[in-house]
Amino acid sequence: MSATQTPQSTRPAVVDAVPKQLFVGGAWGPAAEGRTFEVLNPATGEVLAEVADASPADGRRALDAAAAAQPAMAALSPRQRADILTRAFDLLHERIDDLALLMTSEMGKPLAEARGEIVYAAEFFRHFAGEAVRIDGGYQTSPAGDARFLITKQPVGVTLLITPWNFPMAMGTRKLGPAIAAGCASVIKPAPQTPLSMLALIDILREAGMPDGGVNLITCTDAAAVLEPMIRSGLARKLSFTGSTKVGRILLEQCAEKVLRTSMELGGNAPFVVFDDADLDEAVAGAMQAKMRNMGEACTAANRIYVQAGVIEEFGRRLAAKMAELRVGPGTDDGVQVGPLIDQAALTKVSELVRDALDRGASVLTGGEPIDGPGYFFRPTVLSGVPREAKMSSEEIFGPVAPLTPFGDEEEAVALANDTEFGLVSYVFTNDLRRALRMAERIESGMVGLNQGIVSNPAAPFGGVKQSGLGREGGAIGIDEFLETKYIGIAMPS
Ligand code: ADP
Repeated sequence: MSATQTPQSTRPAVVDAVPKQLFVGGAWGPAAEGRTFEVLNPATGEVLAEVADASPADGRRALDAAAAAQPAMAALSPRQRADILTRAFDLLHERIDDLALLMTSEMGKPLAEARGEIVYAAEFFRHFAGEAVRIDGGYQTSPAGDARFLITKQPVGVTLLITPWNFPMAMGTRKLGPAIAAGCASVIKPAPQTPLSMLALIDILREAGMPDGGVNLITCTDAAAVLEPMIRSGLARKLSFTGSTKVGRILLEQCAEKVLRTSMELGGNAPFVVFDDADLDEAVAGAMQAKMRNMGEACTAANRIYVQAGVIEEFGRRLAAKMAELRVGPGTDDGVQVGPLIDQAALTKVSELVRDALDRGASVLTGGEPIDGPGYFFRPTVLSGVPREAKMSSEEIFGPVAPLTPFGDEEEAVALANDTEFGLVSYVFTNDLRRALRMAERIESGMVGLNQGIVSNPAAPFGGVKQSGLGREGGAIGIDEFLETKYIGIAMPS
């Protein structure tokens, strides 16, 4: 594959080279009745590709293929599972230029960020290749001394994996890495906005030696109709989902019927707290990362920025200056730092949230409006004086908008930070060690960034508390989500 453009179209050749069908039982094939749907380039609004649109019957076929392959997946040795992941890691790096262009074309993020995501995505495979060969067990004497306990771990079984559009490849490897490492067969369903990266990833796993049916992929537009019967069939033993809290709740209910295990990475509403003793340059740099990574389209994005009253004016001035300097445009253009939002609905939502905040008394330090099309661009924006009642204080903005709100003391900062149903991540900037630790302990979130604007790391446990989710992905415990613990009791009378 080459990343050059074909003479006939403005579509990169890599888009044409990627399979666009369903991957079931080790073979690519069309959806029932040959149905397809369009994938758009968010920088232009143009059609990029047509991919297979699976029906409920296609979903069932994929699930049956995974169930048939489960014994073979479980029978692979830990080393064989690790070797598949390591080969896939190498292929991701070999093809990084093409894969980054593919991702930018369908999702919009600047090429440099797309490359960063491929590296991050591959890192999950490297991490879980290591975990595959370290699945542990135990041997224990019963308290009365009359028995021995053997403790072992086994794959949970067939898994359903559902991923969002904002990190089209990393959200896939974060689930497939531990599933494969644990010996689970899976069916994965990417978001309809960005299926191409996942199609390329699955082709890489095929090349890396996955057994037929060990991984299956369905793309579809009516996820509710296709997935619900799959979940309710009970053939899968686990669902791992990354997406909105709204859909997560629906899926949890569906999983209850056959008591599936679940991992849920849901919405966030991250507070970003800056104390007056913080290094302001570091805090501004951290806010740029926490806010602008992925154009703000991340569940970890700083959604509410609380700054101590004495420094908020200076912080706002410096942040607005940095935001105003950012180059906005198609992610494939040289030097672009901010790409388009994913679609018109996203652009409309961000515009409405900004309008609502302004109507409630906030003011614009920079930006504040969309940029005329084609494409779904919104100006990098800083708002000051955003009140608690503004909708963006309780809803995920998912766009390049930084709302600033002042606070007085530590107590107020904790109260503001915890005033949300979400609890994924929080960020705290201070140079007072004890205050940093007090804040980290008191803030209700699964992750805390202390004086840093990015927490995601495949070697660390990613996940939220409250309505941000259940379970952890990555880290040493990430593989446990795909393993069952079995205890074998052995009588040993003395
Ligand atoms: P977003 O708002 O970021 O698109 P969603 O939660 O709607 O987040 O979507 C995340 C993923 O869940 C996507 O792959 C989407 O197709 C899928 N999805 C949406 N609704 C359902 C549903 N009812 N059942 C199963 N999957 C769904």
